[in-house]
Amino acid sequence: MTIYLNNVTLAYEKHPAVHHLNATINKGDWLAIVGPNGAGKSTLLNAMAGLTTVHEGSIEGLCSDTIAYLPQQAQLDKSFPITVFELVFTGLWAKLGYTKSLDAEDYKKCTAAIAAVGLHGFESRMINTLSGGQLQRSLFARVLLQDQPVILLDEPFNAIDRKTLIDLTELINQWHRGQRTIIMVTHDLDYVQAHCPKTLLLARECIGYGSTKNILTVDNLKRARQLSESFDEHAPWCQQGAA
Ligand code: ADP
Ligand code: MG
Repeated sequence: MTIYLNNVTLAYEKHPAVHHLNATINKGDWLAIVGPNGAGKSTLLNAMAGLTTVHEGSIEGLCSDTIAYLPQQAQLDKSFPITVFELVFTGLWAKLGYTKSLDAEDYKKCTAAIAAVGLHGFESRMINTLSGGQLQRSLFARVLLQDQPVILLDEPFNAIDRKTLIDLTELINQWHRGQRTIIMVTHDLDYVQAHCPKTLLLARECIGYGSTKNILTVDNLKRARQLSESFDEHAPWCQQGAA
C-alpha cells in the first residue's frame, strides 16, 4: 500500500507541468500538496487517479480500484442534469459497472452516505441548485460510498462555509484514524499546519517533501513563489528542474 512517485514528469502536449518528482507516500499518511497556481498540483492528482498519462518515470502502488478521487470543483460541469442521489451513486460505478441498476443494499448505502454528510432530504435535488458547500458535501458522500483505501481530494474546501469545513474535516479525520491514505491539494496553509502531518511543496518541481513543519518554512514558500513567477511557459522541453 506504499505509493512511489519515481522521477515523475507530466506534460501537456510536450509542455512540462510537473518535473522529475520523487516521493514515497506511506499507508495512512495525510499529505497536503501545496504550491502556487499552475504549480501542477491538479495535474499530479489526476496522474495519481490514472486520468493523465505519466510522460516519464512511474507511479507505483496505485490502481483505479483502490482510489476515491474528488476533482476540483472547476473541473465539474455543474449544469449536468443529475440529482444528488445520482451524483453520489456514480461512486459505485467502478464496482457495479455503469449499466447495472442499484439493488436494495446499494440504495441503502447511498442513502446512508448522503445522510452522513448532512444532506438527508436533498436526495432528489438537482446539483445545479446546490450551494458550494452542499455540492462539496455531495462529492464527499460519493467518496464515502467509494470506500477506498486511498483518497485524493483536489481543493476540497474552496467556496464552502465554515460549518461545512468543520464537518468535512471530521470526516477526513475519521478516514485518517481508519488508516486510509489521504492526499489533499489545498491553498490553505493554516489548515495544513493544523491538520496535515506531511506536505509536498510543488512549483512544477518539488521544493520540499516531508513533515509539514519542516517544509512550510518562509524560505521554501518564497522559493516556490519565485519559481512560479519566473516560470517560462515556452521554455524548451524539460529544461527547468532537469536532474
Ligand atoms: P494547479 O492545480 O497547481 O493550479 P494545474 O495542474 O492545473 O496547476 O496546471 C499546471 C499547468 O498545466 C498550468 O500551466 C496549466 O495551464 C497547464 N494545464 C493544466 N491543464 C491543462 C490542459 N488540459 N491542457 C494544457 N495545459 C494544461
Ligand atoms: Mg488545481
